[in-house]
Amino acid sequence: MGTHCCEQMERHINEKEVAIVYLPKFREYGLKILDGGTSIQLVHFCPWCGQGLPESLRDSWFELIRGLGFEWGDPDIPAKYLSEAWWREANE
Ligand SMILES: [Zn+2]
Repeated sequence: MGTHCCEQMERHINEKEVAIVYLPKFREYGLKILDGGTSIQLVHFCPWCGQGLPESLRDSWFELIRGLGFEWGDPDIPAKYLSEAWWREANE
């Protein structure tokens, strides 16, 4: 078992052939919006197995980053906050 709810989710996120996107640092799942940009429409259930997906950590991320004195896009944000490392560590 990998990081995601089922084999299909795992595969599609890795292969990037369908419009599903996973943002590790926010723990968000979404569908790519087809406007050429990077926006996504959040999804709360897996389209393949139907399982409820974990809640987004976007708000917590911004709180944490601001608490550390950073703003969005600050090049000095430590690397662990740019991946899922920060919330995986916190959950251990
Ligand atoms: Zn699934």
